[in-house]
Amino acid sequence: MFAAADAPVYLDNAATTQKPQAVLDALHAYYTAQNANIHRGAHRLSRLATDLHEQARADAAAFLGTASADEVVFTSGCTAGINLAAMVLGFAGLVGQGDEIIVTTDSHHSNIVPWQMLCGRTGAELRVVPLTAELTFDMAAYAALLSPRTRVVAVPYISNALGAVNPVREIIAAAKRNRADCTVLVDGAQAAGHVAVDVAALGCDFFAFSGHKVYAPTGTGVLWGRRALLDSLPPWQGGGEMIEEVSFAKTTYNKLPFKYEAGTPNIAGNIALAAALRYVRELGVDNIAAHERALTERLYDGLAAMDGVRVLGPRGGRGALVSIVAEGVHHYDLGMLLDQMNVAVRTGHHCCQPLMQSLGITGTVRYSVAAYNNHADVDAALAATERALRMLR
Ligand code: PMP
Repeated sequence: MFAAADAPVYLDNAATTQKPQAVLDALHAYYTAQNANIHRGAHRLSRLATDLHEQARADAAAFLGTASADEVVFTSGCTAGINLAAMVLGFAGLVGQGDEIIVTTDSHHSNIVPWQMLCGRTGAELRVVPLTAELTFDMAAYAALLSPRTRVVAVPYISNALGAVNPVREIIAAAKRNRADCTVLVDGAQAAGHVAVDVAALGCDFFAFSGHKVYAPTGTGVLWGRRALLDSLPPWQGGGEMIEEVSFAKTTYNKLPFKYEAGTPNIAGNIALAAALRYVRELGVDNIAAHERALTERLYDGLAAMDGVRVLGPRGGRGALVSIVAEGVHHYDLGMLLDQMNVAVRTGHHCCQPLMQSLGITGTVRYSVAAYNNHADVDAALAATERALRMLR
């Protein structure tokens, strides 16, 4: 974790978290005593690295509430996972001319652009669920958008720009009622490590998250997919590991999950991801959620009480972040001044330009917390914000 004496009050956790000592230790142990390429190795080190890597997969499965490690595909992050899903659905011909893909107004670009690209390739159309006046998911509008043409629904569990927790269970159930073979993907980037995830209870087909937002190194992530679906879909990238047998005449593919993991994976990163998930498990995700709720409510109340500050979205039903617009103050100026006061927040469109367009703004200032933040961090951020706003007006 941050050791520098001048370390900022770090409230940019929705962009990426700091890394606990246990994660750094896992990387160090791997590179100093366990490093070898995995699978097919005749030597002891390779077997050790393989065991650690596959144990990491089992740990990631348990983190998602399932015992099926073969449904866990390691990726380089949430973006890679969503692209993988969109690609193979297209390859399989499950999305075609005239079909519809539903996304949400509060989606990250990662949950918009891959689907837009799929539409461009197939002639399918993108449908967008609007927000209610309270900036929450509009269930009635969503129900009206569902149609016999709906082949894919892709939703963020928690909005990274607004913080709203979307009613994913109901969203998924409605999609499946409308059409049992509709594929539902949950973008879990802001949910992993913040709320307990149980993919079976959710009823989704895909669940994607990034390791680096849940205390793991960058370049790690998971795409969980339902086995029957993954089995039925073709591979995306070709190369080593994803094959069963190769000849110039014909190639057959490996079983799950290796079919989707061409090339040498991020072995050290995936092992460190398991250490990060262990960190979450040991703290208890429900304890983390309660802690983060207390911090976010304190932030919400403190910010909402400031003159000319609008906090986006309702106080309740939110993840570990709060986004504001300050009247007469550019988000970037506020962010820069906060930085000078040693408070790190994120400013801008948060990779949600369509959401910003729908709100008629160019950006927000976003404060996001993690398990290691405390009330003093929140109070420091509130005091700095109050001071910065006085200086800017
Ligand atoms: N979805 C959401 C909701 C996110 O917050 C992010 C990261 N900001 C992503 C997807 C993309 O994650 P990554 O850049 O780690 O692939």
